[in-house]
Amino acid sequence: MHWIDQDKIELPEGWINEAAAAKKKMEDEKLKPDDLSQVWTALKGDLGKLTNKRCWICEAPATRSDNAVDHFRPKNRVAEALQSPSGYKWLAFEYKNFRYICTFCNSRRIDIIGGTDGGKADHFPLRDEAARAYTETDDIDNEEPMLLDPCDPEDWKLLGCSLESGHPVAATDDVHERERVEISIKFYHLHQEDLKKLRLTQIRNLDQKISDAKDRYYEMDGTPKRKKKFISALAPIKRLITPGSDFSGEMYNHVKRCRDNGYPWLEKLLG
Ligand SMILES: [Zn+2]
Repeated sequence: MHWIDQDKIELPEGWINEAAAAKKKMEDEKLKPDDLSQVWTALKGDLGKLTNKRCWICEAPATRSDNAVDHFRPKNRVAEALQSPSGYKWLAFEYKNFRYICTFCNSRRIDIIGGTDGGKADHFPLRDEAARAYTETDDIDNEEPMLLDPCDPEDWKLLGCSLESGHPVAATDDVHERERVEISIKFYHLHQEDLKKLRLTQIRNLDQKISDAKDRYYEMDGTPKRKKKFISALAPIKRLITPGSDFSGEMYNHVKRCRDNGYPWLEKLLG
């Protein structure tokens, strides 16, 4: 997961008016949001553009599945809600509530081989259930979502990856945030076996590049030639942690961890 800057989303001409009209139609004619799903599916291409079509949650290679537009705050109902009806119907056409995510992160699935299950579906747990919004007049800013959100500039920094197994891990010691990471791993199914294997390959590849760069770093002797070799060895690391690469957020957090554990020269890549 890497931060998605929603201000970079380009909307088709006239989309905002269409979305407002759809919301009104839904309310006036007592329709379900899904009856007007073309409004959000029309944005699929524009949302996918931000990550080279990678899922905003797992950042797996784009071939993993056909991605869809998910509503971060579920539009129909919320599994954890204590009152009925639940669901953030009034946010159904709000583009800042849209997330571009793969079917593995989005839909309920059981991985028999790996013995895991997950999929966000209509889950949206909160730190304090009493703060949940049920109508448009309730303030959603009072809610503390437990699921990590790629559109929150801080959340992506919490998710790391094990160098031993590729298993997603918390990249923080904060107890509260670690709980959010655990819940997110489960509901986004980030511990799925195939995904772990892909992530492990990527982090081992990154770790080898860091090791190569370390050799070039210690070979520097003040000559431009050796310095150039070191700088060249940093380029592939930079590529792996840049948004749009597979698992770029977890790879970034691995580089950060290495920087803090004896590789201070990696700082120039973290910027
Ligand atoms: Zn995904």
